[in-house]
Amino acid sequence: MLNISGLNEGIVLDHIKAGKSLDIYDQLGLDRLDCQVAIIKNAHSQKMGRKDIIKIEGDVLGKIDLDVLGYIDHNITVNIIHNETIVEKKFLSRPTRITNVLKCRNPRCITSIEQGLPHIFYLADEKRDIYRCQYCDEKYSAHSAE
Ligand SMILES: [Zn+2]
Repeated sequence: MLNISGLNEGIVLDHIKAGKSLDIYDQLGLDRLDCQVAIIKNAHSQKMGRKDIIKIEGDVLGKIDLDVLGYIDHNITVNIIHNETIVEKKFLSRPTRITNVLKCRNPRCITSIEQGLPHIFYLADEKRDIYRCQYCDEKYSAHSAE
């Protein structure tokens, strides 16, 4: 059972891979939100052994990019808290399109030449988690070290 004590209104990101909560804090830009954020590292999890949890206070759902979260790890659960109760659980999926999260590394790509263009990638291969640049089709693999 997820412990949401101390949170009246807000969201709880649950089932974060242990050790990944700070990455997610950065990538979601939570430092820019004017609200309380609690990060719990290495919580016990029956399913995962260890997990991280992020609790965010306030009406922040619209300010958090669930596509980015789904891209980082679609196994994360988003719990919506109202009156100290979980009123909704959102399950994420890999976004089919993601903007300004990945950067195209192809020097001939138009995004390398025209600085103002958004970097848009689309999900080209769901099984292998491969995203490609919308402009030049350059591959970006989430699990490669390149
Ligand atoms: Zn490109």
